[in-house]
Amino acid sequence: MSRGEGSDEDSGGAPKLFFLRCTWCGTATIRRSVCPACWSSDLVTERSEGVGVVASRRHTPMDQGGLWPVRMKEGFVVRCRVDGPPHAVRPGVQVRLAGSAITLISAGGRVIRREPLVRLCADFPLDGWIRDAG
Ligand SMILES: [Zn+2]
Repeated sequence: MSRGEGSDEDSGGAPKLFFLRCTWCGTATIRRSVCPACWSSDLVTERSEGVGVVASRRHTPMDQGGLWPVRMKEGFVVRCRVDGPPHAVRPGVQVRLAGSAITLISAGGRVIRREPLVRLCADFPLDGWIRDAG
């Protein structure tokens, strides 16, 4: 039933994911102006290694079926599009950054934000896994 979405985007250059780290307590966060732990505004931008684990999602709005919160190695959680067989995407699965977040401005001037794209990073032999899935 799932229509292929095409994965041609972000083909140029390595994908990037940035986050903010509090210089006072070291808490990692994303898209905030103050630290969620100590309220300091001394946040520095750092680049994530792009390795994380799918976290559990509590609410699943229908239009966000392909989006999952991912807890990155650095400790922050970011919502990502997950590229992989839907049945294999579940909390605890390791993923790796595959595409940067993009912000587009539509013709009407609307800002469209696309979440970062992550891909399942198979811990298990990929060949056998694909055969089993098919
Ligand atoms: Zn802090």
